[in-house]
Amino acid sequence: MKIICIGRNYADHAKELNNPVPTEPVFFFKPDTSILPKKQPFYIPSFTNDLHHELEVVIKICKLGKNISEKYAHTYYEEIGLGIDFTARDIQQQCKEKGLPWEKAKAFDYSAPLGERFIHKSNLDLTNISFKLLKNNELAQEGNTKDLIFNFDKIISYISQFVTLKIGDLIFTGTPAGVAKVNIGDVLEGFIGEEKLLELKIK
Ligand code: MG
Repeated sequence: MKIICIGRNYADHAKELNNPVPTEPVFFFKPDTSILPKKQPFYIPSFTNDLHHELEVVIKICKLGKNISEKYAHTYYEEIGLGIDFTARDIQQQCKEKGLPWEKAKAFDYSAPLGERFIHKSNLDLTNISFKLLKNNELAQEGNTKDLIFNFDKIISYISQFVTLKIGDLIFTGTPAGVAKVNIGDVLEGFIGEEKLLELKIK
């Protein structure tokens, strides 16, 4: 399986990092080694001094597809969850300045923890999913899929022009504003609505 992440998909987040709001989806990959086994803590890697959380709604692909039209894109996913796109912001900044790819900052081991479980899409209004991240019991990030620049179906259609989507692939759909540094001892909790799907201890 592969993990595809969308960058700059909420205007308020693009602005907080002084990035332009994109006119077509920006995507990058994380390898399967970026999945953190369930119930394990996350250890801040030694190569960064500025590791940021990015809470994102995650789509799980349920059907093989290539060149998927926007009209049928909804038939390629059934389950929706949460994940954190951990980002070594200091390393990413260096990559950006040199015009280099971001993988070193984004695709390292365990950089994509997932929530405990996924929710079937029939239980959600996909155009109005509110989600939030609490850090040490305080609100850190809050978003709603109504603010997506490119919605789920647009993302799937766009990516599949370039890359075949396979069963089990995950798409991280972008983070809202509020990205910030995590520190040893922090506890992160991710919610869709009032339902807690993700809990992670930082070590
Ligand atoms: Mg992200």
